[in-house]
Amino acid sequence: MKKRFLSFIAFALFAGLLFSQEQQWIFTPQTVANPKDATHNGWISDPNDILDRNAEAFIDSICWVLKKGVDVEMAVVVIWSFDEERYDAFDFCQELFNYWGIGSAGNKGVLVFLSVATSDIRIHTGAGLEGLLPDAVCYQIISDNKRHLSEGKEFLNKAYEYKQQGNDSLTNDMLYQACMGFELGVSMICYDISETLMTDEARQELILGWKPKPIDTSFSWWDWYFILAFIVFTWLGVKMSKAEPKQEELLLETRAKAVNNYSDKVQSTLWLAVLFPLPIVFLYFFLRKHTGEMRLHPANCNSCGKKMTLLPQTSDRDQYLTDIQKKEKELGSRSFDVWQCEDCKQTHVLSYKGKKNSSYLECTKCGGATSGFVSNTIMEKATTYRSGYGIKTYCCAFCGATQTVKYIIPKIEESSSSGSGGRRSSGGSSGGSWGGGRSYGGGAGSKF
Ligand SMILES: [Zn+2]
Ligand SMILES: [Zn+2]
Repeated sequence: MKKRFLSFIAFALFAGLLFSQEQQWIFTPQTVANPKDATHNGWISDPNDILDRNAEAFIDSICWVLKKGVDVEMAVVVIWSFDEERYDAFDFCQELFNYWGIGSAGNKGVLVFLSVATSDIRIHTGAGLEGLLPDAVCYQIISDNKRHLSEGKEFLNKAYEYKQQGNDSLTNDMLYQACMGFELGVSMICYDISETLMTDEARQELILGWKPKPIDTSFSWWDWYFILAFIVFTWLGVKMSKAEPKQEELLLETRAKAVNNYSDKVQSTLWLAVLFPLPIVFLYFFLRKHTGEMRLHPANCNSCGKKMTLLPQTSDRDQYLTDIQKKEKELGSRSFDVWQCEDCKQTHVLSYKGKKNSSYLECTKCGGATSGFVSNTIMEKATTYRSGYGIKTYCCAFCGATQTVKYIIPKIEESSSSGSGGRRSSGGSSGGSWGGGRSYGGGAGSKF
């Protein structure tokens, strides 16, 4: 496991090499082995084998959970030392972070960095995590766990003393204890980071991309909803009372037109049910009833001025309808009221929109609302480059005349998810890469 580290340290202590510029132990951001390359797809870079296998497995599992759970990439770098003439811990982390590109979509990456010989511990956050892992939180996490690292360093110094005294057995014991300290410190820091990022609130923000609103803000969603409701219903009230037919419009000559217009306006309020389902449904039925009452408004005869009565909807009454009107009634595209003068028996037929009015077009030949849909032919399919078109054919149920209506099929929007074929396997031996995230230098670091 950490045999290599132990034996090297032992040798280094003996040879006084510890703080020399030995290449294999003094790193630059470019010489740290990338745990994601052509053959590796891990999270931890520990080129000097300072962490043992168990600690690495523990940290590895945390990293995987963060990636799978909230799409955060956490890199863990543990090295013996770095070139202190060229870097401090911040610069080193900043350069390494962006060199690897830790963090996928939204720069959600974090780097945990330990340099043993220089006593540097640092949490370096990507631009997308500065909200959830602000510098103060990173600092707190480090403060909470720093003592393990300090202990590790103390054991390392003891190992150095024992080595000077030539006590190899105690030297090795001390080195083992030192490694335990470093493992514990790094593991606990990784664990605390994952705890911070896996709370319900953090997960909502990371996965859904929105922050839960603090409770004490001045306006909640409900407040806005009620304000919107107030505006919409005020507007609706004004609109509907303006659309209401006036007394003189309800004369027989103009009544059908006025009532049809009004019921179109009623119909046009229905989409608001998306926002206010219950109130709009109630309002809709109220207005429909109101529309029905308008049809019953009393009427007087044109010729003699006497009162007219509305004939009951019996087959008897249908004798006053034309053949086209009978067909329209049968299809449901129109409905009719027949008014008859009580005195001179003159009749007046009023034509209203029927329940199935929207299913029929006006026939171009006979003029009846009797032209029904027959077939739909797509002439040219829409592509991602251009829109297509189709032709709908209608046939008159009264006179048999056909008519065609051309319509446009909108261009197909290219969906962003369709092109994501490049997902990599997470199998142990296959390669990997970081998501290309960037850091603007967030995080916190400390000497231990
Ligand atoms: Zn009359
Ligand atoms: Zn026709």
